[in-house]
Amino acid sequence: MQPVPGGKNRSLSLFSIAAAAGGMVCAADGFTIQFNYSFDTNNFFAPASVQRDRLEDAASFFEGIITDELEAISPGPGESWMALAENPSMEGFPILLNAFSTPPVPVVPANTIIVYVGATNLANNALGRAAPGGVLGISPFGGAWETTVQTRGDSSFGPWGGNLSMDIDSNWDYSLDGSTLDPGEYHFYSVLLHELGHVLGIGTQDSLTTSGHFAEGTTSVIYGTSTPQEAAMDPTLDSGTVKLFTDLDVTALESAGWQIAAAPVPEPGPALLAGLSALGLALRRRRG
Ligand SMILES: [Zn+2]
Repeated sequence: MQPVPGGKNRSLSLFSIAAAAGGMVCAADGFTIQFNYSFDTNNFFAPASVQRDRLEDAASFFEGIITDELEAISPGPGESWMALAENPSMEGFPILLNAFSTPPVPVVPANTIIVYVGATNLANNALGRAAPGGVLGISPFGGAWETTVQTRGDSSFGPWGGNLSMDIDSNWDYSLDGSTLDPGEYHFYSVLLHELGHVLGIGTQDSLTTSGHFAEGTTSVIYGTSTPQEAAMDPTLDSGTVKLFTDLDVTALESAGWQIAAAPVPEPGPALLAGLSALGLALRRRRG
């Protein structure tokens, strides 16, 4: 298995930013989304790439608001399980990880989910595709080990992780804030937020509609602000458009079974960039 950047790296960078901003300390063991590149066979998320940077940015948004505690999946003697996901570089092809596969089924640290990422030429004009992972072959079945594997000891929803695939040849803009986004380009970070929403159960765990999305054109306000915006979890993203998570999208996370930190105080702000940084600081403050 390739080395993966773990939550510790990300927590460190968050800590550095927070420290520079005034000495707030983030909990080191909070909810963490860890990305695994073992199946990125098209090398889309290359080491030190902007694609990886945006993934970490998108993960940080969810890490900043989700407060659930998840048990580690670390089999003891006589305990086993298999992880089922879609190969993120081969649409429609499953990957099944057990103790003897390459890579083997991961040991999932506490409070962490592992997302296998990659890119391919997605069908149906899709920009991205993602889902929470499945489990098979839990042994022994019917006791505490099963609960750990199925829901991480959480009373509602606690996946081990999942898979996330991005379209390999869309006309992407990789800026975080959309500052270089042209009318014909698609905002990569916005799509990552949407797809991670699916990994976290929106439309895949609960059901908003039969399509797993809010109705096309549903509007709310950007989370932590009073700025109107179409919901991130409606089915489409227009080119030239940034879509952040809205109040409605965060509510969908809650209905999927996640505990969410208290909402930040709304920040009025016509400038998206200003709104973003204010939101980030407000969220970090809550975590401190
Ligand atoms: Zn979707």
